[in-house]
Amino acid sequence: MSGKGVFQQLVESQQSANRQQFRQQRIVDIKRIQEIRKRPLVVYVTSLNVPPRVTNYISHEDIVPFGEVLESVEGDAVDVLLESPGGLSEVAQELSALLRHRFKRVGFIIPHAAMSAATMLVMSGDEILMDHRSSLGPIDPQFVGNDGRPQPAQAILSGIKTIKKLVDEEDGGHLHPVYIPILRNIDPGKYQMALHATELSKRIVRDWLVEHKLAKWTTHKKSGRPVTVEERESLAEKVADELCTHGKWLSHTRPIKIHDLERMELEITDYGKHQELQQAIWSLWVRCHHLLSSTNTYKMYESECVDFHKLAVPVALQAGGLPLPVPPGQRGGLQVQHGHAVVEVQCVNCKSAYKVQANFGAPQPMEPGAEPFPKDSMLTCKKCGAILDLTGLKMQLEAQVRQPLVLEANT
Ligand SMILES: [Zn+2]
Repeated sequence: MSGKGVFQQLVESQQSANRQQFRQQRIVDIKRIQEIRKRPLVVYVTSLNVPPRVTNYISHEDIVPFGEVLESVEGDAVDVLLESPGGLSEVAQELSALLRHRFKRVGFIIPHAAMSAATMLVMSGDEILMDHRSSLGPIDPQFVGNDGRPQPAQAILSGIKTIKKLVDEEDGGHLHPVYIPILRNIDPGKYQMALHATELSKRIVRDWLVEHKLAKWTTHKKSGRPVTVEERESLAEKVADELCTHGKWLSHTRPIKIHDLERMELEITDYGKHQELQQAIWSLWVRCHHLLSSTNTYKMYESECVDFHKLAVPVALQAGGLPLPVPPGQRGGLQVQHGHAVVEVQCVNCKSAYKVQANFGAPQPMEPGAEPFPKDSMLTCKKCGAILDLTGLKMQLEAQVRQPLVLEANT
């Protein structure tokens, strides 16, 4: 390999190229992959690095755009290029149901990482495509701990198991007083939830594997002997159990690589063995990654014909002289005075702050330190070159103030 990589070329061309050009380049890659795979490709990728409380995980907001992207393609087979930190397993089930409603054959392509609930979703496919750079992750359920951070639900289960073992083996059936405060702190409701959540994750994956991926496993490769129903179920159980055992992986974010999955006897398509496919997948993934890391787009749903992007708009609103409740997780401030609003926008990449003035009704004099709302709603960060798409902010402001933004004051 020589010359410039895709990412370097993109960074260099960022100032001159626009979003349409980037989209055209992605379509070229999508078509290359479709040609090799002989089926349509849809893209569902998420930024792993977002401001607090941006829903970059699999959540209910995915259902409509994901469904529409699926409707934009033809045929009864599809590939999904997936990048996701995970999210709600019930939504992963909904996404799989959307896929299965339309398609007989579903392949998941993982160029980089599909963790947690995204790993579960991958297990609903007929085919899993990875190379040496791809990772899946453990699927053990997480609870929100007292510090607001996710904690493995199974930590509660294994804590109790350890105490029980010590009591049985070492203390001759007596509970040492040292354990009493620990046990008092364990919420019995949470203990049950941990048990049920673990069982549910396993069951979802096991059932999907039996129904789809392992249904195609009909003959033992070495002996040529036919595979029995029991063998299929037992392998599905084993894989689900292993993916769902926190104690095995020790961290919920531990990458599970192609060789780990093959060791579990799960067949993976290593697209690293197909150079042209590997190059096309990598190129498309890098283009998506570049967009996610250099703009405020945090989710992309695309096919050859449609593209939907979710944008993080960092802003808090105050309009009409009346303070409005600040939406959770949104930053900055806004005051409406004399028919204009000054919004503080923070660069998603380098955190530089900009004051953007939006005028309503008629052009207004500029506030000190503020810059006019960009005509095309695209604000370029002067420090790092990131492009902040303020389309969502414009719509939000207009809905709040109930009149259109005046853009003449730009000059
Ligand atoms: Zn910046």
